[in-house]
Amino acid sequence: MSPTHRELEIGANDGPSQGLGHLASLVDPTLDDLTRELQMRIAVSQFESPVLLLDIDGTILDGNDATAGLDIERAEVRGRPVWAIDAWDLPDAAGVLTPLIEAGSKGRVGSRTLDTINDAGPVRLSITPVTVDDETVLLVARLQRLGDRDQTEAILAETTQRLAAAEGIFQAVAEYTSDLVCLHETDGTFTYLSPSVRRLLDLEPGALVGTHPVDLAHAETRAALVGALQDVARRGAEPIRFRHRLQHRNGGARWFETVITPIQNTEGELHQLQSSSRDITEQRETEQQLLKQAFHDELTGLPNKALLLDRMSQAFAAASRTDQPIGVLFIDLDGFKTLNDTLGHHAGDRALTKVAERLIAIVRPGDTIARIKSDEFVMLCTGSDGVQGASIVARRILEAFERDFMLEGREVRLSASIGIATTSGDADSNTVIEQAETAMYEAKHNGRGRYVIHDEVEHSIDLERHDTEAALRRAIANGELRLHYQPELDLESGLIVGFEALVRWQAPDGRLIPPNDFIPLAEETGLIVELGRWVIAEACLQAGRWRVHRSPDEEPVRIWVNLSARQLEDPDLLGFVEESVSRAGITTDEICMEITESVLMGDGDSATRQLDELRRIGISLGIDDFGTGWSQFEYLHRLPLDVLKIDRYFVQGLGIEPDAAVIVSAIIDLAHALGLIVIAEGVESKGQLEVLEELGCDQALGFYFSEPREAAAFDQTLSRA
Ligand code: C2E
Ligand code: MG
Ligand code: MG
Repeated sequence: MSPTHRELEIGANDGPSQGLGHLASLVDPTLDDLTRELQMRIAVSQFESPVLLLDIDGTILDGNDATAGLDIERAEVRGRPVWAIDAWDLPDAAGVLTPLIEAGSKGRVGSRTLDTINDAGPVRLSITPVTVDDETVLLVARLQRLGDRDQTEAILAETTQRLAAAEGIFQAVAEYTSDLVCLHETDGTFTYLSPSVRRLLDLEPGALVGTHPVDLAHAETRAALVGALQDVARRGAEPIRFRHRLQHRNGGARWFETVITPIQNTEGELHQLQSSSRDITEQRETEQQLLKQAFHDELTGLPNKALLLDRMSQAFAAASRTDQPIGVLFIDLDGFKTLNDTLGHHAGDRALTKVAERLIAIVRPGDTIARIKSDEFVMLCTGSDGVQGASIVARRILEAFERDFMLEGREVRLSASIGIATTSGDADSNTVIEQAETAMYEAKHNGRGRYVIHDEVEHSIDLERHDTEAALRRAIANGELRLHYQPELDLESGLIVGFEALVRWQAPDGRLIPPNDFIPLAEETGLIVELGRWVIAEACLQAGRWRVHRSPDEEPVRIWVNLSARQLEDPDLLGFVEESVSRAGITTDEICMEITESVLMGDGDSATRQLDELRRIGISLGIDDFGTGWSQFEYLHRLPLDVLKIDRYFVQGLGIEPDAAVIVSAIIDLAHALGLIVIAEGVESKGQLEVLEELGCDQALGFYFSEPREAAAFDQTLSRA
């Protein structure tokens, strides 16, 4: 018996089969597997020479009619492994064909010459892997009858035939696909365009044959196309993939991802080009959108922290080469939380957008303004002359806040606190931002609406503060606040006439944290507004609860609530007080509010307006800690006050410091002259009480009578009174 196989050739690629391999990739990948396979079968049926279509294991999926000439009946062999059919005159067909199948499954092309059982003589079987999509690989087994004819001649004839057939398949497939599939001469000139060009570019395929793709190219990406065509000629067999735009007949342009595949003839010469272009316009828009979202803040359109950090590292690298200092400004809006709480998030968002607009107007070309969080902006100033340059920018930012903002139909005054850090570029971006932030907190601490330059401010303290702030925020949300009450006595009758409500924080570990440990932080961070609202609501409810302990003919007890400056900035304070009062079923004369003199140091006008409003609805107002704040008393008659509370400091000097009695006496006289009730704070001894009585003080509170206690501690006392 003649040798069953004469050659073994497994190569990376053979020329013409590449065209075939690529044809399969033209099958529309969005179609389902079955449809794709069907398309492959149609393609295979177009071969004139015998062809079998195999799956990756070598099982025959189908064949064309030409196999009948080799005694292979399509219908009979379907579903059988290619080595198990009767056609081969071969004792170990599996042993011979399996390596070819395996090579094919790995993307390599191989061929063997086999004897067949009929008289046709030897047949050359070539197996070509065909990638249908990322997951599906099929094998095409071509059978070339060698017969008695001269082998070389036969192969040549078959090759020519195959090339022609390949074009037939190509067209068959191209007609199906939604992509733009084209054939080109080697210089790019179109020889064929699939009908999809009508839908994609609204152009007629026939009219474009003979023209060059460059004529369709959008000016912006023309170079990419020209470059790709040059590369394809240079690089030989490798396909080239690139993105570019083609003009649509309506004047617009669409984005395409194009693969140009060179097709070589048997001599390995470039024969023609085949291209397939997928419309990626929508995909590109999504990509651009995602890219923008990844690096920009959605609300203001400003760069976000990720982009800021990227620009910072570039700027730092440049700065360390040129030795030019870089300024980083941390800008935080003052009272933003209050604004959000009172005017609503919509107004808050509007405010941020408007602030962003003003900041953009200030930022110099080449510099960056980013929004990194809620109301926090960071400006990166390159090429500035160090601290001085950054300070100039900071001043311009502060000036930009001098004009009111129109929000929800109202004019709102906003301010910002700015921290500046400078670096010569040899620092870590996050560290520099943190330094600027620390300085910003310092600016807030110093009274807001100003800037502070970072030098060696301790940031460990700052970190601690961050933790506490989060904890306090949770405390408010989780109901960890408590109110204690300290009774106020009328010195003439000796009866309790009111209580001061004093807040405490009952930490989860049971500790009772005094207000001096958290009120300053709450004020600084704006949490005081929320905290203060809780206090007001709770005090009102308590006044309601105590009502049941009093008979109807008795005066109701009054509860004094401490009010911070920032609460007076809350435009909805009045509304909130009214609501709390009515919810608790009490009247406004049962709730009173005390403020310290320092409140008046800020924006006196708006505080005065708020106090006037509160007074108008019947809330009594008192000045707390009198004598410790301001040296000017002119506000005493300007403000709608009812009560003046003498600070503990003076009371405690009574009987010890000779001057104390003189000062207390003067304060009492002044207050009485203005028609105010005088309350002495911090009375600790009988001696102090006696002096106060003598000086004509009206009321007093202090440890001598009672420490601040839980409300229930006074239920009985009130019933007896
Ligand atoms: P304040 O309004 O001047 O309250 C009086 C403080 O003096 C209270 O301290 C009270 O416990 C204490 N005190 C009362 N009698 C005596 C006494 O005879 N001797 C001594 N040595 N101290 C006495 P507390 O409760 O620690 O409150 C401290 C400050 O915290 C308050 O000073 C007030 O400014 C602030 N605060 C308390 N609750 C609130 C609140 O709900 N809102 C706001 N904004 N501030 C509050
Ligand atoms: Mg007080
Ligand atoms: Mg006080």
